[in-house]
Amino acid sequence: MKTKKTRGKSKVTKVLADNACPSCGLEMTETKGRLSFPVNGEEITVPNSSHLQCRKCDEVVLRLDESRNLRERALEIYREKYRLLSGDEVRRLRERLALTQIQLAELLRLGVNTISRWESGRNVQTAAMDILLRLVRDVPGSVEYLRSLAA
Ligand SMILES: [Zn+2]
Repeated sequence: MKTKKTRGKSKVTKVLADNACPSCGLEMTETKGRLSFPVNGEEITVPNSSHLQCRKCDEVVLRLDESRNLRERALEIYREKYRLLSGDEVRRLRERLALTQIQLAELLRLGVNTISRWESGRNVQTAAMDILLRLVRDVPGSVEYLRSLAA
């Protein structure tokens, strides 16, 4: 979609408060409560999350740090729920198998950056992928088997 450049100055028609509701313009209230955040396609409920809420229309707005915090806590809750391997544990099992992040990703048919995201904690593996990682770690010959499928 093309947009025309506005010439000259724009006229200010309305001044909103810093915490104005994007729907109705009313000033929003600082509050804490349960919010949900999707992790691997599952809605994870995070209790006691700070956010702004509109009393009139229930609109919820997160500041950048609040949204980062919500995401981190959702990943943590998901990780605990499925007792997933930590990022460090994923790194250790990969290094013990003498594989690079890209090599392990290829053997498991994953995107090239996926293992790096798991190891750094920027993302978490699904419960199914976690089981597969444990299998590769604990069952001798797994890597050779995966290699034979890749060949
Ligand atoms: Zn509102």
